Parts: sequence; C-alpha cells; structure tokens
Amino acid sequence: MRGPDVPARSLDARALAALAANPGCARRAVLDGAGVDKARLATALGSPSGFGQSQFALTRGNAFEARVKADGGAELLRLAHTHLDPGAEEPEGAAVPDLSAQGPEGRTARTALALREAVRAGGWTLLDHPMLVLDVAGSPAFLEPDAVVVHPDGSWSVVEIKSFPMVDGSADPAKAGAAARQAAVYVLALEEVAARLDPAPRVHHRVLLVCPKDFSNLAAGCAVDVRKQRAVTARQLARLTRIEELAGALPEGTCFAPDRPAQELTAAVEAVPATYAPECLSACELAFHCRDRAREAGVVTRLGRPLRAELGGLATVEEVLSAARGESGDPDDPAVAALRRAAALRAEALRDAAEARREAAEASATAAAGRTAVTACP
Ligand code: SF4
Repeated sequence: MRGPDVPARSLDARALAALAANPGCARRAVLDGAGVDKARLATALGSPSGFGQSQFALTRGNAFEARVKADGGAELLRLAHTHLDPGAEEPEGAAVPDLSAQGPEGRTARTALALREAVRAGGWTLLDHPMLVLDVAGSPAFLEPDAVVVHPDGSWSVVEIKSFPMVDGSADPAKAGAAARQAAVYVLALEEVAARLDPAPRVHHRVLLVCPKDFSNLAAGCAVDVRKQRAVTARQLARLTRIEELAGALPEGTCFAPDRPAQELTAAVEAVPATYAPECLSACELAFHCRDRAREAGVVTRLGRPLRAELGGLATVEEVLSAARGESGDPDDPAVAALRRAAALRAEALRDAAEARREAAEASATAAAGRTAVTACP
C-alpha cells in the first residue's frame, strides 16, 4: 500500500502515543500500519505539515544526550540511583553492553538477551538505545528508548532524555506530559520482554526524566509516575481495530506512494475514513489535509471532541443549525432541545441589543436637536 519501492516508515513511541490519542481514526491506523511516510504524503497531497522537531532542537537534544551518557553513563546512572532507587548500592562500574546488531529484529533480540544477562549478572546495567517491539493493531512497531536501566535487584526502568529545561526541579507540564506518554509506550514494550522471562523482572512504572538544569549544560533528573498514561495507552492500543479489517474494506489496488498523481493520492486517502479533531494539529502530519476536508464536510468533530459529545447524533454544522432553527431533529432529544433554547435566548439577546441601540440613537438625536436649538437662539 505504501508503494513497491518505498521503504517502510517505522512507528516511534511519539507516533504511538499520538495514535493512542486518536484511536477512532482508521486513516491514521492504516497509514501507520502500512509504514507510509505521512509527512511525504501530506506534501504530495499539497498540504505539507508543519509538524515535527526543528533541526536546531534535534541537534541540541542529541548534544545534551551525548553529554549525559558520557563516561559510561556515569551521570545518568547517578541520577537513576538518586531518583529511582536510592536504597540500592552505588552504580560504580556499571555494565554498558554493546547492543549493535543487524536490522531492527536483530537489535530487538540483542536487547532481550542483554536484559536477561544483566538480570543474571546483578548490579547496575545501562542499555544505551535498546530496541523494543510492540504489537500495534497486528503489526510490529519497533521502539528505541533513550535508555533502559537494570537495577541491582533485577528490575528495569525506562529513561527519557529531553532537551527542554527543568527549572527549579520542574519542567513545562505540557512537555513533561508528552514525555510521560512516550515513556509509557516504552514501559508497555518493556513489560512484553519481561513477560517472556521466568521469573518476570519487575518493570518500574516510575520513569526517569532527564533534562538540562535551569537552562545550563548540567543534567537534572526527576522520577515521573506513568501509571495513568500506561493504563490509558494500553487500553487505547487494545481498542485499535485490526489493520487487516480496515485494509480489507479498501478498494483493490489502493496505494499511497507519494510519487502518484495528487488526484489519485487524494482518492486513496479519502477512501479511508478519518476522525479529525483539533488535537490532530499537534500529533499527525496529515492534520492540514484532514482539517480542510473536515471543514468542507462541515463535520462537528473539527470543533473538538467535548462539543461533539454534547451534540449527540448531530454530525454536521448544517444539521446543528437546522435543529436549532426548528427545521429538523427530535424535540425530545436533549441536544436538540438545548440548541432550540440557545437559539431562542440568542434571538432574544439580539432583539434586546437592537432595541438598546435604537433607544441610544433616539436619545442622541434628541440631544443633538436640543444643542442646535440653543445655538440658533439669538
Ligand atoms: S490528521 Fe487525519 S489521519 Fe491524522 S489522526 Fe487526524 S484525522 Fe486521522
């Protein structure tokens, strides 16, 4: 579906967290499942995304991560010891196994082996950029956390390294929340590895977030509880419709190769139903394309999920206006009744405002006439 010569675009934890944030969108599920590069597709459709990190932010983030992991990850392990496991022995001389292998499958197997060996060996172990795999709606998603730490008691923790600052011990809540959602995906993938071992090692639900301290080059850490994000993500991923079912409903030969003519691509994309919501703007590369289509169709989902939920069975702006005017809709439907009441209140408010304007105009005309009479008086 992504085209014969187009390499698969692998899903990362950021994309998975976003996929779980909009589980009702079949379009995103199919495109991600088929490994389509959505940024290229959006450009080919004529609606390029303004989505993703800038080159500057990427470079700065990579430089900070390299600094934190220097000297065998001594600083990172010190932060893990301080914030996650202060009762354990000092992380002196921790092991940092080589995880290099051929391809994502090879790296995943190498990571699983390194985790098993680390548990057997005891002590602290740092896994730098391990590779994990998670089954997403029937297709494997390979994930690469910044690091995983194995504690002396054999338990495992996820480490997320970010380039946004931690000022006085706390980071921007929105950015920290996004990092927590991403880390929750890694925790789920790590739990799948743990489940294959006997006895299964404990995977901590508190992850280590490492950021620059107060805009400096120094590293600051804090433990983030991701239990809630993990539970939400697990539930959403389990609810995702299986990709085979979605793909089976598409017309024969549907192809999303970005070198196809725009008209053909548009038809292919439109063949998969989408559920656009304003949240897509910060989570999906196709957001501008889907927003334009949602506007054309007048669907109410583009105004936000809370409003959509309040409108019940009314799916388009036209249906909402018609119900408010009393031209359609069941008057016993609470949404229709509320709309009619709102329309009546609005009409009353507009009438009052018009009346007030008329009275103000009359008063000002009377005052002007009085001034003219006084001026004209000899
Ligand atoms: S932007 Fe479009 S494809 Fe992406 S999640 Fe939203 S509706 Fe689905």
